[in-house]
Amino acid sequence: MSLRVENLTKRFHPDLPPVVQEVSFSLERGEVFALLGPSGCGKTTTLRLIAGFEHPDAGAIYVDGQAITHLPPERRGIGFVFQDYALFPHLTVEQNVAFGLRGMSAKARRERAMEVLQMVGMTVFKDRKPSELSGGQQQRVALARAIAPGPKVVLLDEPFSSLDAGLRQATRDEVRHLLKASGIASVLVTHDQEEALSFADRLGVMRSGRLEQIGTPEEVYERPSTPFVAQFLGRTNLLPGEARGLEATTALGKLALASGAVGPVMLSLRPEHLRLEMGGEAEVLAREFKGHDLTYRVRLAGREYLVHEASGSAFRPGDRVHIRVVAKAVVVGQHEHPSPEVSVFSVPRPER
Ligand code: ATP
Repeated sequence: MSLRVENLTKRFHPDLPPVVQEVSFSLERGEVFALLGPSGCGKTTTLRLIAGFEHPDAGAIYVDGQAITHLPPERRGIGFVFQDYALFPHLTVEQNVAFGLRGMSAKARRERAMEVLQMVGMTVFKDRKPSELSGGQQQRVALARAIAPGPKVVLLDEPFSSLDAGLRQATRDEVRHLLKASGIASVLVTHDQEEALSFADRLGVMRSGRLEQIGTPEEVYERPSTPFVAQFLGRTNLLPGEARGLEATTALGKLALASGAVGPVMLSLRPEHLRLEMGGEAEVLAREFKGHDLTYRVRLAGREYLVHEASGSAFRPGDRVHIRVVAKAVVVGQHEHPSPEVSVFSVPRPER
């Protein structure tokens, strides 16, 4: 394992709950891991604990099997890329990258700096100052500086958030490619679920200081284990039901379940797991055109559902429809009220 984090706990205030609570995960060589969660859930603090900028109250951190929990940041073999790049404004690109290469001759430092600048495609800019570079170029220099000393692990804190949408996607792809090619394990902190899903080999969804679920992007998206994870990774319909093995009785009829359960359960069905058919008890409330597809808001028996349809579909507000379930429902938790009429978790509304 390149990086192993065990039961990391950090409290800033004695009267408040810990900001990071018993967080554990481990990364293989070259693995890209994302810590995903809402603002204030403890992602950055987790990263700062791993980097050594904060000291944990409990728990341990290992890099390549060596305990580094009590080592200063510069002796951990960990590189760090900050949100604002934090390049030295008075140094050139080459000097910025060479900066962290202590204990090498001037010639060796220059050679190593040029080697990593080559990797990130920035050698032609070696004599420029950071202020003479675009955001994406500065980000590449920041990454070059982080990987120049040959770390085992690189930590990235919201590194793409100040780039505009087009550049963000391209820079993300490049950085991912570079990290995979270099064999360095990396941890990306982000609150952007799409970024985590497309960037990471595995991700951990954090809530109030705890890791609520760890898995591949497919696992956490398709098989969320809690209502929070289901909702944080995209829109979903949360629906109570009464399970009996691989089936549950719900307001949408008898549904097949992705995994067996017994008793009152909360189920998650993504909008793409539902389809509309003309004629039925449900009413179309709103239609949201999104180019490649459409989202309908539909009401049935006092409960609202989100349904995706291909862009050609032509249901209109006021239409009477039937909601058909085209996938297995995922059990995301127990539910205290067996009656399908009782709503504990409301269905998220469209943003606009
Ligand atoms: P964001 O995405 O907004 O940066 P985050 O998930 O990275 O959020 P953290 O920055 O880790 O969250 O902060 C978690 C909580 O810890 C917040 O409530 C924050 O106010 C608190 N916190 C962070 N650093 C300190 C500190 N040095 N002293 C006291 N409280 C802190």
